[in-house]
Amino acid sequence: MSTPDDPIGFGESDLAHGETLLEVEELTKHFPADSGLLAGVNLEPGQFPPVSFGVDQVEAVDGVSLEIKKGETLGLVGESGCGKSTLGRTILRLLDPTDGTIRFKGEDLAELSGEELRRKRSEIQMIFQDPQSSLDPRMKVGQIIEEPMRAHDMFDDEGREARAKELLEKVGLDPRHYNRHPHAFSGGQRQRINLARALSVDPDFVVCDEPVSALDVSIQAQVMNTMEELQAEFGLTYLFIAHDLSVIRHISDRVAVMYLGHVVEVAEKEELFENPQHPYTKALLESIPVPDPRESGARGVLEGEVPSPQDPPSGCRFRTRCPRVIAPEEYELTDEEWGHTRAFMRAVKRRTFEPMTAADLRREFFDGDLPRGGAGEIVDEAIGYVATDRRTDDERGGDGDEDGVTDDDWERATELLLESFAERSICAREQPAYELEAQHGSDPHFAACHLHR
Ligand code: SF4
Repeated sequence: MSTPDDPIGFGESDLAHGETLLEVEELTKHFPADSGLLAGVNLEPGQFPPVSFGVDQVEAVDGVSLEIKKGETLGLVGESGCGKSTLGRTILRLLDPTDGTIRFKGEDLAELSGEELRRKRSEIQMIFQDPQSSLDPRMKVGQIIEEPMRAHDMFDDEGREARAKELLEKVGLDPRHYNRHPHAFSGGQRQRINLARALSVDPDFVVCDEPVSALDVSIQAQVMNTMEELQAEFGLTYLFIAHDLSVIRHISDRVAVMYLGHVVEVAEKEELFENPQHPYTKALLESIPVPDPRESGARGVLEGEVPSPQDPPSGCRFRTRCPRVIAPEEYELTDEEWGHTRAFMRAVKRRTFEPMTAADLRREFFDGDLPRGGAGEIVDEAIGYVATDRRTDDERGGDGDEDGVTDDDWERATELLLESFAERSICAREQPAYELEAQHGSDPHFAACHLHR
């Protein structure tokens, strides 16, 4: 609130820098997978009556726990569709949580509704990705900035105008632009107007959802610098959502990495970039394009598709794409044997090789030697399905391509390998969560990966 010494109302804070401002615990947001007429009706041919009822759920955010400290920027990064925006919107209560708590200055936002929630909203604001569509083209800039103040009954007309003009200056625009329409501004300037609008109600906490991703790289840095200046001046706290790691590196104090509705790694920025501990984070870092014209594209890319959040993998959700899946204990494989088996399993699953003879497969994937014991027998059986010389056309059911290997053969080999190895790994059986000692900084380093067990 404003005071005679602080007419614009900034500078006040009821928490000290570094104290916990927001604490999210086991936050979950599920959506019904289908909202059509027959949503929730499942056909069950083997039973009577041959239908069952129950709506499949999309697990957009599942059991996320995070803490954000007063005055810091927590970067939230992950591929598109991993649940970042849903998490931001659920924290703001723009979406109702399915489960969990959202403690803001000690008060559980998940429990608030109606007028109480509306009043709280002045303390928490959001900036969206697209500055073009989030500003009403019919309104003048002054009206746009004043709108949230009006909604929260802050100041009289004169006070709101004074505040809007001062805010324009604070975000690096000219207060004389108060009467212009948004179309007269560039993308970067429009995002500055959005910033002024969000700050008009004197929030403590701003959720920034990809706020610079629609801007040119040179403009991105300028807008982020302004955001940092405003943060330092007014003690703001940001949750900064982005898919671009260089943006996250520029602005964050700490970074949380999200994959398929789970937070998989959290650490201070330097620790995360210099000492990443989750295979997903490592893969993301490796896929940052290199600024070398001789290199085309990315250095490494994440293999495979992101699984559906409607039916996420058990245990660690990254396991279907993880290059480091842990060996099932029952086979007592050496690191080398497991490395070969894992590479073969991935190649069969993705069909990344042309069918060849069993001897060639052994040479190609196992240096000629299959793993010892039961694991070797399973691998040998899988080789039998996809080798060109191990089964007759009749045994294969006939319709193979010129190598004689059918789709069914590939599927059988995949199923056998996944069921015998991948599904028996601890990665498939238990959801990981480990706190590690950081090499950089003093904050704990969280990594959801069983390699740290
Ligand atoms: S828990 Fe297993 S599958 Fe998940 S990231 Fe770690 S090694 Fe990979």
